[in-house]
Amino acid sequence: MHIMNFAVFNELWGIKKELTDIGEDIYKEIKSDFDKIDALSGNNQLRVISYFQNFGLSQEHFFGSTGYGYGDAGRELINDVMAKIMQTESAIVSSYWVSGTHVISDCLNAILDSGDLLVSAVGSPYETLNKVIEKWKVRKGIKFEEVGLEYKDKEAPTIDFHGLNEKLKEKPRALFVQKSKGYSWRKTLLNNEIKNIVELRNEISPETYVFVDNCYGEFVEEIEPGRVGADLLAGSLIKNPGGGIAPTGGYAAGNEALVELVGEELTAPGLGADMGATLDTNRDIIQGLYFAPVVVGEALKGAVFNAAFFNELGYNILPGVSWNRGDIIQAINLGDEEKLKSFVEGIQKAGVVDSNVVPIPEKMPGYESEVIMAAGTFIQGASSELSADAPLKPPYYVFFQGGLTLNHSILGTLMGAQYSF
Ligand SMILES: *Cc1c(COP(=O)(O)O)cnc(C)c1O
Repeated sequence: MHIMNFAVFNELWGIKKELTDIGEDIYKEIKSDFDKIDALSGNNQLRVISYFQNFGLSQEHFFGSTGYGYGDAGRELINDVMAKIMQTESAIVSSYWVSGTHVISDCLNAILDSGDLLVSAVGSPYETLNKVIEKWKVRKGIKFEEVGLEYKDKEAPTIDFHGLNEKLKEKPRALFVQKSKGYSWRKTLLNNEIKNIVELRNEISPETYVFVDNCYGEFVEEIEPGRVGADLLAGSLIKNPGGGIAPTGGYAAGNEALVELVGEELTAPGLGADMGATLDTNRDIIQGLYFAPVVVGEALKGAVFNAAFFNELGYNILPGVSWNRGDIIQAINLGDEEKLKSFVEGIQKAGVVDSNVVPIPEKMPGYESEVIMAAGTFIQGASSELSADAPLKPPYYVFFQGGLTLNHSILGTLMGAQYSF
């Protein structure tokens, strides 16, 4: 590995020498973490290349369709490759899904009937899902319950298997399993833990579907949740699997019958996902998937650097520096509103686009408290690119993620530190 010359941050961005000195020391100390991540992203990328080869990727797949979009070979190949990646029977990738929330909403709609019980297995779901669930409670009479977190380790709460065991006895129609911590201070689930959830389900309530919100989790481990028996999973193309190139969209993957139901939510009953013009999106989605494992590796290294840096400065971080990671998010407890705002401002200043913009806290659709976000990104709001978000509420956690390259992610950490001190 080359040793980066941290003086460049000093020269080009005026980062204080005391910070670049810390950065340079840390960079050397975390070499073995970086090596592990390189091995992971290398294996995952080779896996993806082999899938494209096996499905016979050729120029024709790059040209999208118009109108009804019947017989779109590119769309079909992308779906097949995504199913392989997610280790499921079937998958749909579509740029008609406007965001992760949208595809998750369609998935829940596909598997829940009126009167069904939906259980969130690991505390509260991601904030933008509250309105989705609220609506079905009213419209479909769906019941919704959460299994609270277990606080054995106060600094890293996680899944409460005892509580889950009890809730499964009520035979819910579906378990909502959010892999990533989202905007909450809890451990991200590893796929092995999802396996434990699946096994508990098999024992207590085999009819219950396990639905995994896989946002931010793709390519972070050697396996995906499909491998450990999740029935359905979903995620966003402007996060990990888009590789910074897919312009918009989402995916759903899982058991064939369930994915077919999701396809009917995406278009209409009787139509399903065998239609839908892809316009000009196929090549970008394919190239994005090709790059995605490596981009995720860069983001993971950036997260490890960020964790080590803010740990060195004395902050509580989650996950810890060398923990096994299940997503690309690094959470820091900044403990102070002003520090939080200036950290996020620093991240925006480090963006490659709109670096002169000052982020301000705002009410956003789907979020309860005001949210402050930095995303100077090529793809609007793409959080596999260098970005930071935080709900503006005590104790002032910030969630840092991305950077399409490690260099850029390190710049983000240093700028965040420079501004918040
Ligand atoms: C990003 C995310 C979502 C969906 O958010 P969108 O902004 O609608 O894409 C859902 N769950 C988790 C855990 C997420 O990180």
